[in-house]
Order: sequence, then structure tokens, then C-alpha cells
Amino acid sequence: MSNDSVYIFGGDAPHDDPRQKDKKIAGGKGANLAEMASIGLPVPPGFTVTTEECVRYLKEGADFSAALRQDVASALEHIERTVGKSFGSNDDPLLVSVRSGAAVSMPGMMDTVLNLGLNDETVQGLAKVSGDPRFAWDSYRRFIQMYSDVVLGVDHGLFEEALEIAKEDKGFLSDTEMESEDWEGIVAQYKAICEQETGNAFPQDVQAQLWGAIAAVFDSWDADRAKIYRRLNDIPSDMGTAVNVQAMVFGNMGDTSATGVAFTRDPSTGEKAFYGEWLVNAQGEDVVAGIRTPQYLTRKAREDAGAKPASMEEAMPDAFAELAQTFDLLERHYRDMQDIEFTVQQGKLWMLQTRNGKRTAKAALKMAVDMVGEGLIDEKTAILRVDPMALDQLLHPTLDPDARRDVLTRGLPASPGAAAGRIVLDADTAEQHAQRGENVILVRLETSPEDIHGMHAAKGILTARGGMTSHAAVVARGMGRPCVSGASELSIDMKARTLRIGTRELAEGDMLTLDGGNGQVMAGDVPTVEPELAGDFATLMEWADRHRRMKVRTNAETPEDCRMARQFGAEGIGLCRTEHMFFDAGRISAVRQMILAEDEAGRRKALAKLLPEQRKDFHEIFEVMAGLPCTIRLLDPPLHEFLPTAEDDFAELADATGFGIDHLRRRAADLHEFNPMLGHRGCRLGITYPEIYEMQARALFEAVCDVAASSDQVPLPEIMIPLVGTRRELAILRETVERVAAEVFAEKGREVEYLIGTMIELPRACLMADEIAKDALFFSFGTNDLTQTTLGVSRDDAARFLGPYVEQGIYDRDPFVSLDIDGVGQLVRIAAERGRATRPDIKLGICGEHGGDPASIAFCNEIGLDYVSASPYRVPIARLAAAQASLR
Ligand code: ADP
Ligand code: MG
Ligand code: MG
Repeated sequence: MSNDSVYIFGGDAPHDDPRQKDKKIAGGKGANLAEMASIGLPVPPGFTVTTEECVRYLKEGADFSAALRQDVASALEHIERTVGKSFGSNDDPLLVSVRSGAAVSMPGMMDTVLNLGLNDETVQGLAKVSGDPRFAWDSYRRFIQMYSDVVLGVDHGLFEEALEIAKEDKGFLSDTEMESEDWEGIVAQYKAICEQETGNAFPQDVQAQLWGAIAAVFDSWDADRAKIYRRLNDIPSDMGTAVNVQAMVFGNMGDTSATGVAFTRDPSTGEKAFYGEWLVNAQGEDVVAGIRTPQYLTRKAREDAGAKPASMEEAMPDAFAELAQTFDLLERHYRDMQDIEFTVQQGKLWMLQTRNGKRTAKAALKMAVDMVGEGLIDEKTAILRVDPMALDQLLHPTLDPDARRDVLTRGLPASPGAAAGRIVLDADTAEQHAQRGENVILVRLETSPEDIHGMHAAKGILTARGGMTSHAAVVARGMGRPCVSGASELSIDMKARTLRIGTRELAEGDMLTLDGGNGQVMAGDVPTVEPELAGDFATLMEWADRHRRMKVRTNAETPEDCRMARQFGAEGIGLCRTEHMFFDAGRISAVRQMILAEDEAGRRKALAKLLPEQRKDFHEIFEVMAGLPCTIRLLDPPLHEFLPTAEDDFAELADATGFGIDHLRRRAADLHEFNPMLGHRGCRLGITYPEIYEMQARALFEAVCDVAASSDQVPLPEIMIPLVGTRRELAILRETVERVAAEVFAEKGREVEYLIGTMIELPRACLMADEIAKDALFFSFGTNDLTQTTLGVSRDDAARFLGPYVEQGIYDRDPFVSLDIDGVGQLVRIAAERGRATRPDIKLGICGEHGGDPASIAFCNEIGLDYVSASPYRVPIARLAAAQASLR
């Protein structure tokens, strides 16, 4: 019965073709519907048209093949046979839903049409056979609105408006007061709206309805909002979506019917407690649409929230018990937390969807650790299950518990974390302000897929309507944005661009702080505290450490950063940029004197002032990094970066040096470079002004010797010469450093171990790595500059074209964020191989920004680097990513 393009599920369907359970073929929704049906759960029968058909349809110019039409017709018979109704029948019509389902779940991206198969005649049949005309007309009006919106492109606002007016005329407050005749009247109005807007009568032919809906699902793959979502989430654009056509079950058949959404565990905290929302006598998206306030699932959740309307546990104990059992079964089957959609039709539970639930980082950690404890998964699975990048959420400051909070109101804690920023009231404004570098909080009545770009640009999201499973909540959790939803005291005046909370009025642009962990909304900018690595987080990190091969170091140049990084588990410094110490207010004047000096004697005089300062810096860092390797890079940037530009600075410098301002200005102009990135910098400074590197080496060795004098926890300094392109450069500077080391050791009467190596950041260095390795004990890949010099792209000037390049797929991702493995990676691989050929035990590491990017880390593991180095906050991400790389 099933063949290549269509698979049936439910009833007596075979579910035995592996393609049917392959998400790439059947989509996530279709694969999971088949899976649920095959383990005996109550799934309304239906069929799935494959993603391959979508790709073919879009490629072949929106045309369906005769074969596909035939396959769909026979699959429809499977549904008819199973439920004993026929599609388009005037007596007992089969109604179906048409649902999209891509391989990767894309919340809210694709539109679903419910109650398809209704027309002016079948609605009468449905009224008769159900004995409930109100239900039949309610279903028909829903269908007309959804179909007109999704398939025919009619603005759904027109329908909502018409319904509002009709209710007002009747003096009704809610939809539930509408009677059968009222809905019938609405249907007439809706059909008129559709005809007016499209120029055609609402389609009465059920086959035309079905194919129109299938086409709309396929077309929605290329809708703008789907494209944006894919771009933001790195989802390939050529996968296509599947379509699921499924017999309707009705949650809108009176008080014994309901619809709901649930998670098997709390997606926000990870707590093992049923979590969800439901609505009596409702259908489909009613729960998440924010039109009616959803009810709690369990009695405990209801009581905790102090809510009145009965929980499902209380109102429908039998269906609830079956649901609870199903949760358990699904978790044991999928061995993961599930996100479920269900409907109860006249007391009978039906499962409409399951998928691995999205979760916050905190919840991901708790669930992973708990499930190992429960024996559901093993340690390795737990490590692999947590997205390293999601840890970022936990590595950011939270609100200072001692800070004063001017709490305006409290909504639902929809996505944890603290955020402060200026209020913006729409997505476009959010994006514009964020582009200017402002922190913004997006405040909406409720969000919809059209707001995605603004949600992404915002630091936090606040909505007046919607529950814990509303669009805002789900998307915010996915993006790791703090979110408070359903703050019902909040009202927004879009004309005045103000908002009111109780008696307080705020305007767009005012500061607002959100605590997504407890739902508080506060006026002003509330201070924050540093994160900490404890509890489940620490446990998972310990497991990760057991399974990784590569070491993880940090890029740090201050004792505070080093301390933070060690708390996060750093095993050394991979990059200490010594020039950062030169920018210090107390030192910059001596640095400038050194740069502007006329000759070596002048430079040495200025360097003598810097020596004790630099020694002190090294000393402090070496104390913190006791016993660990520390890669110290000698001076790298072009000197002009230190030059004065302001009038005051020149005057101050004139005072300090005794030179006239004009003279200093001329020297500064002499140092101007056309292309500083490729100019007088890196080891070229060491070659031309050896006294600079001599001073730095001296400061370093004196500091190590001093630390060694008072402690047996001596760090291992790795002196790194930057921007080497030829062996000779390194050889000359190596001699310099070794000479200074010998001098210092003689003076101090003590020798310490050290290594000299180089940063590999030029293509020539990669190619000549076998030669360079003769003088280097280690290589550290400086992939920021290596990317610039390999691609011939200046990172600082790339902003204008990099976006479009990524959008058009010229680069898969920003090559400064994720290593260009094909190009730059190839050079890294060559350098590693050639370096090892000369010196098999050469130490290899990476210290570019890429050392904190999971995909780049996986590559580093593959080519056998010894360590990666990341900024302090990224160290835990790197530890986990390194473990995952080892396990995969
Ligand atoms: P989404 O991908 O946006 O979640 P779905 O295809 O899951 O869209 O449909 C949204 C909602 O419509 C479901 O949660 C469910 O409540 C309802 N729905 C879909 N198919 C059916 C059906 N066959 N019977 C009853 N309700 C359905
Ligand atoms: Mg939806
Ligand atoms: Mg769904």
C-alpha cells in the first residue's frame, strides 16, 4: 500500500518501512506519528507525503505528478476504511487535518489546516451525525478562516474582526457563548469575506481543498519566516517539508472534549513533573494562541499557581491517567523528554504529536544527569545530549539577589536568565536598535512568527498574553533569550508607543529588566552577579572531562580572567596577549615614549620603566596559574595602535619627554601604515627592535624565577613569537629569548623550564611548518589572523559583505566564528602534519576565537591537536565540545 512517496500510519498500517521513521524522509512529525502508532498509542489514522515530494514539487514548478495523486487517493482510502467515514460524504463526512513537518522541528514556521473536508453540504451531515450542530458550524468557521489564511492568503484579522463585532452585538464575552445559529451566521460572513478578498467563492470541492492545502504546506517551506528561522538555526534550505494528512479528532465537542500540549518534564527547570496546558471544548492552536487562558494539567500545578479553573487531573481523571501513562511510555521509548500534543474527544485520549522537547540549558543539564540516575541513559549519551552552545545561557550573569528591585508586575517564567534593556514595541525597531549596539527588550501583546528577527535581536522578551507554551515562550527558550510571558497586567498603546502596568506608565526607550527565572518585570537596570559552576552543571562537566582527549586552556591576560577561567576548569593559558597590559592608563605614556623614541637608547630608557610593571603582571598571572602551562605571546600589534590621537595626550607626552608637540606629531605621522594588519607588527617588531622582546622576556623570566623561589607549583611558560613566516625569523628571536633567559637564570641563581614556539597565522608558516618546527617546541594556531590572511578578508571590514555571503551560501557560516574547515582548516592540517614530521612531540594548540566554537573544536580533535584555548566564559563549552568530539 505504501510506496516511495506516501506512507500510511494508524489503524492497520504496517509501519515497517524504515523510511517512514526517518525524519529526513517523513519529517519529524510524520516519523513520530508512525512511531507512536507502531507502539500502540492512540493516533488518528493518516498518511505522510515525503519531503522528497516537496523538493520535487518546488523544483518542478508547483506541479503534482499523476503517480502522487494516485498514491494520495489510496492513502486516503486507508483513513476512510479505518474510521468508517468518507471524504466529501454528505452523510458522515471524514474531516482531516493537513499538517506540515520538516526533518528538524521549526516551531510555528509551517501552517496547519484543520477540519478540511467541510463545505455547505458536508457541514449538514456532520451536524446530523454528531447530533451537535453547534460543533459542526464551529468547525466549519474554523476551517474557512484557517484555509483562507494559510492557503488563500486572506488576512486572518478580517475574520477575527467580524467575530468580535458579532460577539459584541450579542453581548457575548467569550466564544463559548456562541450558539449554533451564531456560528452559522459567522460562516456566511466568513465566506463573504473570502469571496471579497480572493474574487472566488470559498472552495466547495473537497479534493480541491485537499490539494490546495498540500500545496500550501509545500510552498510554506519557502516562506520568508521559514527562511529566517533556517538561517538563524543553520538548517539547510534544500531539505523540504513533509505533509501529514490525518483524520480529525475533535476537542471542541463539548465539555468532555479538550485539547492540550504537554512536556513530560519541566522544560524550564528540568524538574520531573508533568508540565503543560489544556483547554476544555477547544481545538488545535487555541491553547497556544492566547485567546483563552489555558488551564493547568495537574492539580498541584494549579494550586501552586493559585488558579481556579479545574486541572485536567481533576476534570478528566480517566483521560489524565491515560495521558500520564503515555508520558511514561514515551519517555522510556525515546529515552528523552517529550513535547506532546493531544486531544480528548468525548473522554477518549488521542495523541497528535510527540518530539524531543526543547529545553533551557539548565533543564538540559538536570534532565541529562537525572536520566543517568534513573537508568534511562548512560553517561556518554548524557554528555552528547547537551548542546555546548546552550551552556552559554548559564555562563552569563544573573540578577544580583541583593539588588533593589522595583517590581512592576509578574508574568510567567517562560525562559530563564536576566536581561535589561530599553523597551521596544515591535520587531523591526528591536532589530534597528540592536544593530546600533543597544540592549533592547521586546515587549509585545503576544509574539508571532513574524517577530522572530526582533526576538533574536532583543536581550529579552516580555508578552502580555500567552502561556508557558506560547510562541514567545517556545521560541525564546530555543534561542536562549530570557522571556516573561502572560504578564496580564500589561497593556500596550501602539499609537502613543507607551505601555501601562497597573498604575505605572512607561514609554518605548525606557529601561526595563526581566527575570525569566521567576517572571518578574522590573523598572530600570538591575545589577547582576557572575555565574557559578555547580550542581548538575559541575557533574556533567566532570563526566565530560573523563571522556575528552584534548586539554582546554583559556585566553586571558588579567589575574581576574585567569581566576574565572580556572573556576570554569581551564588547564592553562593558551594565549596571553602582552600588549593588553600596555594599554593600562599608568603605562601608556611609557609605551608611547618607547614608540616615539628616536633611537635604541631612547627606547631602552622607556622600556626600563615598563619592565617592573610587566614583571608584576606576569607574577600575578603565574601565581594564579600555578603549575600550569602558560603561553605568553610577545608584543604583536602594529605600534601605531598605541599612538596618541587626542590633543591632551600629545601635550602630556610633550611634558614627559621634553619633545615639542610638533615633533611628536611628525613622529606619529611617520609611523602611519597603509595596511597595518600586514605591516610592521608581530615578530617584525622583535627583529627591528630586539630590545622590546628582550624586556618582555626578562620580565617573564624574572617573574617565573620569583614564583619558583616561593612555591613548588611553578607554571610552565611557553614563549610565543607571533606572525612568523620563515624559520630564520624564529631562529633569530629564539636566540634573543634564550640569551635573556640565561642572563636571568645566572642572576637569580635558579633555572626554570620553559618552551619557545610560535603562533602559526600565515599561510607561508603552514606550508613551511617542517622548517619552522626545527626551531619551535610548540605551534599555536592563531586562526583569527590565519583566516584573514588565507581568505584575504579583513575581519574588521567584513561586516558589509559577510552577511550576504553567508546568506547566499558562499560561506556556510561566518568563517571568523566557525573555522573554514575546507580552506583554513586544510592549512592547519598541513602545518600539524609537517610540524610533527620534523618534531613528533611538538605541542599543538589553537588560540583563535575558534577555540570556543564546537564545530571547530571537533575539527581540532580530529587532526590531533593537544589543546584548544577559549575565552574564560567559553571554557565549559569547550570542555563539553571536546568530550563530544572524542565520543563521536
Ligand atoms: P505545529 O507544527 O504548528 O505544532 P500541528 O500540525 O501540530 O502544527 O497542528 C497544530 C495543532 O492542530 C495540533 O497541536 C493539534 O491540536 C491540532 N491538530 C492537528 N491535527 C489534528 C487532528 N488530526 N485532529 C485534531 N487536532 C489536530
Ligand atoms: Mg503551530
Ligand atoms: Mg504541533
